[in-house]
Amino acid sequence: MDIFDTLKQLGYGELHFGRDEATGLRAIVGLHSTRLGPAIGGSRIRMYASEAEAIDDVTRLAQAMSYKAAIAGLAHGGGKAVLLAPPELAHFDSERRAALFRSFGRFVDGLGGRYITTEDSGTSPADMDVIRSVTKHVLGASAANGGSGDPSPFTALGVRRGIEAIAHKLLGRKDLSGLHVAVQGVGHVGEPLVKELADLGAKLTVSDVDQARAERVGKTYKAEVVAPDAILTVDCDVLSPCALGGAITEELVPQLRTKVVAGAANNQLRTAEAGRLLMGRGIFYAPDYAINGGGLINVADEFAGYSLERATQKTLAIYDTIAEILERSRRDKKPPETVADKMAEERIAAG
Ligand code: NAD
Repeated sequence: MDIFDTLKQLGYGELHFGRDEATGLRAIVGLHSTRLGPAIGGSRIRMYASEAEAIDDVTRLAQAMSYKAAIAGLAHGGGKAVLLAPPELAHFDSERRAALFRSFGRFVDGLGGRYITTEDSGTSPADMDVIRSVTKHVLGASAANGGSGDPSPFTALGVRRGIEAIAHKLLGRKDLSGLHVAVQGVGHVGEPLVKELADLGAKLTVSDVDQARAERVGKTYKAEVVAPDAILTVDCDVLSPCALGGAITEELVPQLRTKVVAGAANNQLRTAEAGRLLMGRGIFYAPDYAINGGGLINVADEFAGYSLERATQKTLAIYDTIAEILERSRRDKKPPETVADKMAEERIAAG
């Protein structure tokens, strides 16, 4: 792997390596950009097949965070940390795990505030509390501790606002009443999204691989429940992928019966070609990192001393971002995801 070539291609940046023999720490922090402000992004811990795989993961994820922060209008750059999990991590007792995260926290502290960490896959609020004991460069405190709490309802709020922008500007509706939205996955984001939409009178179809969850959500919000293999091809106005990434494949696009794809899941387009095919069919795709930034907006607000009111207002503004992407996509006849990348790059370049 030619690390400097990879960094050049992704427009980097810095890569920092930290290790601590005593605790088994092996961590890499990628700072894609600090042009707009301190880089923000979660720390994930997992087993990697190789160091090259970990470097690949951290560099791509940090770049994605740069774009996400920039398009959300945050004064933050993008960063990410990966911890290469020690083989025996699952058997660590709480003190050993705490020692590992304290050592990681000291590594983050040594970066002097240019990288601010938060929770990501494999890490928890409890790990963040441990990191907080050795550095102030960490976000994601629980609401009980004066922090921003669970980001998911904010992610859902932002997705709802994006759908509203599309309903008004593309579908010619004055509100969401009767708009048919099919939601794939009713977990931490999908369920509050269904609630938001139900409150505004949308017609809903939902699905989850957890059948009991799907049934409960369906009953609570008067949504039709369909099987997981049926949700993506439901005849609807908006398809909202809120489960795993990669739901929109090249094979799926010809079968879609929706006018819009707008959901919370990261990396919804399996390939760039899937995005071009959507555009070819006249289906508008709300770029995932632009519409699902509510959780990031919420946690980033802790940086300025958390205000629920301010975080909510900033999340509501996702409406304007999606409206602008829609407008520019139509004007320039470019796929929305290309437009979003350009908008993020312009903001980063403007500093
Ligand atoms: P979650 O795990 O709480 O919910 C996902 C749900 O999808 C689960 O209930 C799961 O059973 C279901 N599911 C999985 N595969 C499915 C399938 N094939 N068909 C139907 N249902 C399926 O996760 P979440 O926090 O709600 O996040 C959902 C997506 O949004 C993820 O891709 C995540 O990366 C992304 N995202 C989440 C946030 C956030 O604030 N939580 C922010 C940005 C992006």
